[in-house]
Amino acid sequence: MDPQRSPLLEVKGNIELKRPLIKTPSRLPLSGSRLKRRPDQMEDGLEPEKKRTRGLGATTKITTSHPRVPSLTTVPQTQGQTTAQKVSKKTGPRCSTAIATGLKNQKPVPAVPVQKSGTSGVPPMAGGKKPSKRPAWDLKGQLCDLNAELKRCRERTQTLDQENQQLQDQLRDAQQQVQALGTERRTLEGHLAKVQAQAEQGQQELKNLRACVLELEERLSTQEGLVQELQKKQVELQEERRGLTSQLEEKERRLQTSEAALSSSQVEVASLRQETVAQAALLTEREERLHGLEMERRRLHNQLQELKGNIRVFCRVRPVLPGEPTPPPGLLLFPSGPGGPSDPPTRLSLFRSDERRGTLSGAPAPPTRHDFSFDRVFPPGSGQDEVFEEIAMLVQSALDGYPVCIFAYGQTGSGKTFTMEGGPGGDPQLEGLIPRALRHLFSVAQELSGQGWTYSFVASYVEIYNETVRDLLATGTRKGQGGECEIRRAGPGSEELTVTNARYVPVSCEKEVEALLHLARQNRAVARTAQNERSSRSHSVFQLQISGEHSSRGLQCGAPLSLVDLAGSERLDPGLALGPGERERLRETQAINSSLSTLGLVIMALSNKESHVPYRNSKLTYLLQNSLGGSAKMLMFVNISPLEENVSESLNSLRFASKVNQCVIGTAQANRK
Ligand code: ADP
Ligand code: MG
Repeated sequence: MDPQRSPLLEVKGNIELKRPLIKTPSRLPLSGSRLKRRPDQMEDGLEPEKKRTRGLGATTKITTSHPRVPSLTTVPQTQGQTTAQKVSKKTGPRCSTAIATGLKNQKPVPAVPVQKSGTSGVPPMAGGKKPSKRPAWDLKGQLCDLNAELKRCRERTQTLDQENQQLQDQLRDAQQQVQALGTERRTLEGHLAKVQAQAEQGQQELKNLRACVLELEERLSTQEGLVQELQKKQVELQEERRGLTSQLEEKERRLQTSEAALSSSQVEVASLRQETVAQAALLTEREERLHGLEMERRRLHNQLQELKGNIRVFCRVRPVLPGEPTPPPGLLLFPSGPGGPSDPPTRLSLFRSDERRGTLSGAPAPPTRHDFSFDRVFPPGSGQDEVFEEIAMLVQSALDGYPVCIFAYGQTGSGKTFTMEGGPGGDPQLEGLIPRALRHLFSVAQELSGQGWTYSFVASYVEIYNETVRDLLATGTRKGQGGECEIRRAGPGSEELTVTNARYVPVSCEKEVEALLHLARQNRAVARTAQNERSSRSHSVFQLQISGEHSSRGLQCGAPLSLVDLAGSERLDPGLALGPGERERLRETQAINSSLSTLGLVIMALSNKESHVPYRNSKLTYLLQNSLGGSAKMLMFVNISPLEENVSESLNSLRFASKVNQCVIGTAQANRK
């Protein structure tokens, strides 16, 4: 089979090939119309033949089918049957069929006179009457009849033999035809089977192809759907592409603009770089110069401070408070300096009338004038800012790495706390030295950060009462409790001192300092009792450890700034009766006097450059030893009450301060150090 041809075409080809076979003129007695039948109709075409074959046994049928053939019915029943049976016996059923078929095609046989059944071969009587039976005695007649009968029979036999011969010929023909037909039928049946098989195969293939077609159609519809979807997407993408293209164009335009700007910027940058390099060189040079100037400033600043005296004493007289008796005029005088009233006052005269001294006339002796001279004297009207202005430079020395210590000395109520911490109510005008000094330090440290300096500050605040140290920054359960702290060296061989159990709080802004001062005030209030204003009987020491670093130059500096509100310097009236309260007061006073006199002795020893400085004689001097010796700067405020009733204590304070002042007066001395 040609592999290129489809099964359907194959079937068709086969059918075409078979046609000539069918169209070939057949020897079979089949009509043309029957030959044109389809294979499925061929069975029916053959059927009548079968029927005819089957029906051959019936004699009557042969007669009716072929009227030209002498009717066998003319043969007497018994004879016909015998003949038929003889034929049947000789040829079998197939022969019978052949006979039947042959009968159909046989040539017409001359008609044989038909005898009616039931006759015994005796010719019928004329007129239809039966010949009358010869009498038994008519033997001759009977013989005659018998001879006639025999003759007829012989004729009949002859005829029948002829007929039989004919029939046998026909039978042979028919058998040959049957054989040919059988062969042809088998061939056709074979063809038919093949064709049917091919048709079935073709149908199967057709079915498969239909299924294939259906599947393909389904796939096609799916693909078409996909194609539509893709087309839709394509449209969308094209749209997007258009948008992107326009964006790209826009961006390219911008890029071009930017590139142009960039190239011009690059040129600019190159020139700027050159400029920057030049500037950097200049800057380095200037930084060098600035640093040199800063170091020179520090040196000169220190020299200036030393010229002013490493120990300076300022006297401050507080104003008369509302409700206090007005002091007699001329009790305190503030003589002008050599430059006249425009010069800041440095002198103070106190007039004290001694009632015990009397004139000979009995009139009261004129008041004794006591003159004092200090580095600076602040009359009652001096404001806090004015006072701070004088010490701002000194405070700055702490940033330069020099220990600074500022004391407030004086009797209770003379204005020490006011000077150090400030007035009540949080009035910024009344702010004391501590908040002002810290604000100044923070601001200068900020300025110095531009020159590469980094500063850090750690604050502590303790009070020393009856030679015991108490933390004023204590919080929680330790709040208000004292006597737990000890002054120790920070480490073995270390010069640095630290107070055990005291809080050291890092500070970096005014708010934090304010909070600490507020906490210290609260802690003092807790310790206050009705009989004893403890705060006036104790020394309050605010210390700020300053650490500075210039990392790029590997420089470091560090110094403590100590701001001390000393205990009231007043002495106990020796004339007072000593009750239990007074005894306690006496002990307090002795402790205070001892520590204050130790302070004086320490200052003297330092001033005289004595080998032994009695720091350890009091907790105060022991704690402050690093802020007093060496290159330390010290400033003492002597606070004076303007009242007449305090004149005696004022005089004592002024004398003490004067001693301190004398210790260090003389810039030459300071210069020599
Ligand atoms: P101290 O601490 O020496 O015992 P204070 O500082 O408590 O004395 O001052 C006693 C009183 O005088 C306070 O009410 C204070 O406000 C007031 N005072 C002290 N100095 C001045 C001053 N320079 N100006 C106004 N009031 C002052
Ligand atoms: Mg006070």
